[in-house]
Amino acid sequence: MKPAGTAEDSGIRVVKMKKGPFLNRLQANPGCNLRVCILASGSKGNAVFVSGTAASILIDAGLSGIEIERRLKSRGLDPKDLDAILVSHEHSDHIQGVGVLSRRYKLPVYISTKTQNAAASQLGNLHDLKTIECGSTFVINDLAIHPFSISHDAADPCGFTIHQNSTKIGIATDLGIATAMVKEHLKECALLILEANHDEEMLINGPYPWPIKQRIKSRTGHLSNAASKILLKELQHDCLKHVMLAHLSETNNTPQKAAHEVGQALTRCKAHLHIASQNTCGALLHLK
Ligand SMILES: [Zn+2]
Ligand SMILES: [Zn+2]
Repeated sequence: MKPAGTAEDSGIRVVKMKKGPFLNRLQANPGCNLRVCILASGSKGNAVFVSGTAASILIDAGLSGIEIERRLKSRGLDPKDLDAILVSHEHSDHIQGVGVLSRRYKLPVYISTKTQNAAASQLGNLHDLKTIECGSTFVINDLAIHPFSISHDAADPCGFTIHQNSTKIGIATDLGIATAMVKEHLKECALLILEANHDEEMLINGPYPWPIKQRIKSRTGHLSNAASKILLKELQHDCLKHVMLAHLSETNNTPQKAAHEVGQALTRCKAHLHIASQNTCGALLHLK
């Protein structure tokens, strides 16, 4: 009689998991698929934590390494359990802590060639560099990640969708306009992180010099509350559970204005609306 086959024999992919308190918590909660936490969002620094059952990643690390560690720990997450950092583009509010965290925790950094070239001096030596390309899906354990091009004044900026089993989340901040491609990629997400950068009137009447106002309003700048509302209106569907408004300007927007204006889009679903903050870590959301 043949011995019982291993999981590998049966074609099931076995993923080796790191041990640690974070994994123990996941195992204690077997129904959990995806966890998402916006550690910080805005022009002074951005970082999003996402975990599946077998992988924990950061999308951008735009605060100091110490501050990112502090915010992870404030939500019971151990930076030692991270598996990778993904970089959306080279602006310093997205990469400030990437190099130090990569070296400290021996983390691979997933980044496009053009972004890496543009960011090289700020990143320094990386523990491991993994080249990604907009339009090409890559896999980190149980997370399937798809970077897609967005319109922003950087070398090769991208948004991301992340699939785990049948659940999909989408992340798009730092975009001047929501192109047809952006809309296509962000369809059917259970959770969306969308930019709501500025209130158009506050920006026009605000203190910024005119060239900066022009840059923010341009097709390669940042998405206004009004534009975010139009985008969300198109993207909403019955299974959309959470919408997190992100990259709010501290000068040209308020959480109340963003929530009021963009929230009006949610006419056909009961998604929870969250506002990401620059100074405080958001809640750790569990998607099942
Ligand atoms: Zn930014
Ligand atoms: Zn940017």
